[in-house]
Amino acid sequence: MKDENLAAAYEIAEQVCACNGYADTVRGIRFSWCNRLRRSIANCRRVGEVWEIHLSSRLFPLASFDECVETVVHEVCHTLSGGGHGKGWKECMARAGYVNAKDYYVAGR
Ligand SMILES: [Zn+2]
Repeated sequence: MKDENLAAAYEIAEQVCACNGYADTVRGIRFSWCNRLRRSIANCRRVGEVWEIHLSSRLFPLASFDECVETVVHEVCHTLSGGGHGKGWKECMARAGYVNAKDYYVAGR
């Protein structure tokens, strides 16, 4: 089940990268489950040439489908815009269909 979710996350990531004009970037993204993420549903960090996107193994399964999709889009937009929730990130979110993207999205509950 969890691995299926990661496969779905990669499909979303491919679409977000493609609609932003960076189709190849998805190859530099690694998704993984993280047991330590307990307050935010996901985060990302750059390690050398690779962006690691960590999904909370505790919170992600509790989120709705729409929240899961938006979370993946949110993190992928960080990889495309270089981090932060500034203008570049908001433009990436808008191209992925989230015109009024929240500055910070946490679906913890
Ligand atoms: Zn963020």
